[in-house]
Amino acid sequence: MLREHFPRPRRIVIKIGSALVTGDGAGLDRVALTGWAREIAGLRQQGYEVVLVSSGAVAEGMHRLGLVERPHALHLLQAAAAVGQMGLVQAYEREFSGHGLHAAQILLTHDDLADRARYLNARSTMQTLLALGTIPVVNENDTVANEEIRLGDNDTLGALVANLVVADLLLILTDQEGLYDRDPRAYADACLIGEGKASDPALLEHVSASFGRFGRGGMATKLLAAERAARSGTHTVIAYGRQPEVIARVVRGESLGTWLKPDREPLAARKRWIADQLHSRGELLLDTGAARVLRESGRSLLAVGVVDIRGVFRRGEVVTCTDPEGKPIARGLCNYGADEVRRIRGLKAEAIESVLGYVAEPELIHRDNLVLL
Ligand code: GLU
Repeated sequence: MLREHFPRPRRIVIKIGSALVTGDGAGLDRVALTGWAREIAGLRQQGYEVVLVSSGAVAEGMHRLGLVERPHALHLLQAAAAVGQMGLVQAYEREFSGHGLHAAQILLTHDDLADRARYLNARSTMQTLLALGTIPVVNENDTVANEEIRLGDNDTLGALVANLVVADLLLILTDQEGLYDRDPRAYADACLIGEGKASDPALLEHVSASFGRFGRGGMATKLLAAERAARSGTHTVIAYGRQPEVIARVVRGESLGTWLKPDREPLAARKRWIADQLHSRGELLLDTGAARVLRESGRSLLAVGVVDIRGVFRRGEVVTCTDPEGKPIARGLCNYGADEVRRIRGLKAEAIESVLGYVAEPELIHRDNLVLL
């Protein structure tokens, strides 16, 4: 059956989870890889642009090193990823070259995407690779990513990549049929949810935050990824990756898995980049008036509305604005560093110069650099 009003995607990000790539940890599933590569090559031939986000480095590394359990120690996890990533790129290189296509390896950390210049570099490299007709194969740079700079799971990475290239479709292939209204492993009568809105908070109530055995994501991270990707107008489909011709069928609009549609106005590129920052450097606690003005009128944030601050940040870094109850309401690039904000909080713009001896900008966060959460 075909989905009504399913978009005709041109640019597609396909994310494949660890359990699928490695046959539930039994080593790279060559047959499956061959199938996905054939389908992707077919799409490429028809003029689609495809970016692949592949997990499986840790799982394949565990398999190669004979580790039965996912390591807890970070250095061992990173070592496993380094070994396994070799297997992944070898396999993709071989599969795609069989179709006359070049694969291109891209390893990213959160820091790469948080830094505006590196983010823009990653974006133009990715666009160039697509223009050259190659298949970018993306993973997190697990070897260097410590807790502070890690993205955490590849569902999130898939969404960030979808926003980076402004994809029409994010296809998340996983070892479940899609999103169910109840845990299908516990309830035989659980029903698959065929479609929904990407930012519908009710969807999250259907899932537990459990992680898979091999990768980091669960259904919750997939839903959050869909919500994130929707910020650039990207549609998301979560589907079972082992069914025949799954990629081509989803792209054609067949009703497989769960389709999550973007339901809010897409953000402008720069605001999307701000919204996609996973870690903020500090917090500005606002008074009731400032919180209301931000929420309701989308105006700039002034120092006079800031009651307190937390964290250490420099001018131009990302901070989170919270309301008096501590609820995060917005995120933005602060025009002053933390030490300066400590001195000027609560003051009117005209008083900034007499305290600091200079004025960087009259507002703490300009509305062009501010995103409501
Ligand atoms: N980057 C990790 C890997 O390749 C996977 C993270 C995830 O499973 O989401 O093993």
